[in-house]
Amino acid sequence: MRGLMMEYQLTIPTILRRAETLFAKKEIVSRMPDKSIHRYTYKDFALRTKKLSDALHQLGVRHGDRVATLCWNHYQHLEAYFAAPCMGAIVHTLNLRLSPDDLTYIVNHAEDKVIIVDQVLLPLLEKFKANISVQHLIVIPNAGQPIPQGYLNYEDVVASGDASRFEPFEGDEYTAASMCYTSGTTGKPKGVLYSHRSIMLHAMSCLVSCCGLGITEVDSVLPIVPMFHASAWGFPFNCTFVGAKQVFPGPYLDPESLLDLYEKEKVTVTGGVPTVMLGILNKLDADPNRYKLALRIILVGGSALPRFLVKAFDERYHIQVLQGWGMTETSPLGSTSVLTSQLVNASKEEQYDHTAKQGLPAPFVEIRGRNENGFIPWDGVTMGELEIRGPWIAAAYYRDMEPEGKFTSDEWFKTGDIVTIDEQGCIEIKDRSKDVIKSGGEWISSVALENTLMGHSAVMEAAVISIPDEKWMERPYAYVVLKEGKTVTPDELKKYLEDKFAKFWLPDGYEEVAAIPKTSVGKFLKSALRDKYSKDHG
Ligand code: ADP
Repeated sequence: MRGLMMEYQLTIPTILRRAETLFAKKEIVSRMPDKSIHRYTYKDFALRTKKLSDALHQLGVRHGDRVATLCWNHYQHLEAYFAAPCMGAIVHTLNLRLSPDDLTYIVNHAEDKVIIVDQVLLPLLEKFKANISVQHLIVIPNAGQPIPQGYLNYEDVVASGDASRFEPFEGDEYTAASMCYTSGTTGKPKGVLYSHRSIMLHAMSCLVSCCGLGITEVDSVLPIVPMFHASAWGFPFNCTFVGAKQVFPGPYLDPESLLDLYEKEKVTVTGGVPTVMLGILNKLDADPNRYKLALRIILVGGSALPRFLVKAFDERYHIQVLQGWGMTETSPLGSTSVLTSQLVNASKEEQYDHTAKQGLPAPFVEIRGRNENGFIPWDGVTMGELEIRGPWIAAAYYRDMEPEGKFTSDEWFKTGDIVTIDEQGCIEIKDRSKDVIKSGGEWISSVALENTLMGHSAVMEAAVISIPDEKWMERPYAYVVLKEGKTVTPDELKKYLEDKFAKFWLPDGYEEVAAIPKTSVGKFLKSALRDKYSKDHG
């Protein structure tokens, strides 16, 4: 017998409708590329989004067409986020930090019909424009500057739309709504295609308080994570859903600009990768009384969260840091390090230990680990590759010519992350399979070594890589960036690690570098360090 509940498709227009009806007066604030601050309300946003939807239709965009964006985080990008899926098209966010070659590959592979681009990013588009064939290039003007020939002006396009002609998409919730390519850290970028339903269920799960963020209408939220990186971890959809104030930083991701927005816009929730948060902590530490912050929670993800960061923000600024683990393929919410009942009354130090782990899977997300001996026991010790399934986990890549090996025979997604899972179901990421160090048959966690090194008072950043070794096959080797004005010898670093790790875990060398190379989304690019090592050491 079927239940007697309404057939109600979980689609993006429902978010837009809710925001428009219930939160019309709430604010959306953006720092624009010309540094000016733009403010408007959800009412303005909904009207312009509907106009853009209609205008895209007038330009020939139809159900299933890809509307790409090459933009910083700001309100016009938010409009595109909603305008395309709300008319049954697909918003495809392009990573502005990728090379022109990668962008050419991605645009052609996705067969984008339209690209909406920030005028300040036109020099990047111009580098690969000749190699792609899209029907319309729409430029978001920078501070009223004229738009060059051959492009449409975004503001003219919006003005040409008629909100009364807007036809919200009311089809099947499994229809594709948005698209994002992986940032290519592990090979050619791969297309992940989110559906209306997956975005809606992901939003619900991000919003439930058991995941730890619990964003509501009273929050003011600033996503540092770019809107081209796994949908800014869902913030734009989730915040619009609950009517939270949204604050977008535009291209200005330096600690000073971010702290300025935190203070002026009374930001309560923010999210970004560890390296950005490290910069913010250092800025705060330089003058601890300078900023009056309303921040209640910082979500850190994308790479492992160093424990000292959790402790520093809590002890010095009374701000809670929460860790999230996820991937482009997981929408991205996979797990969060929310405290369980066993830990709420535990000592602060125990709580920090827990937050430095990747935590419990989100509701609807199922996990298991596997190594060469089969599924790993949930003992918190045995390592294996994390496998995952759930309603917002990719079931396939878009137009994938080599699908073998990415999914198990019973259709779980193979994450490529090496983890332990403890008896509570708490995940701890030990490494990415390609970064793993296997020394004398034993796994050494580069992540654990890095996070401990970054807790040393002289160390700003640390990355540990695997180097070849005749006897042990592989050995760990550390690269460190020192804090300004600080010095430390390799021997001192070795001593610092000695009482924290087994002897065979200690790196064979410590080398100071000016900077750790980063990926397009701010993660340590270990392949570049491995190349450097082989070049320097023959
Ligand atoms: P890319 O694969 O190009 O790096 P993603 O952003 O999809 O782009 O990266 C997902 C990967 O980032 C995960 O598989 C994992 O290795 C790493 N990651 C994400 N969040 C965390 C975290 N909290 N702790 C450790 N690693 C993380």
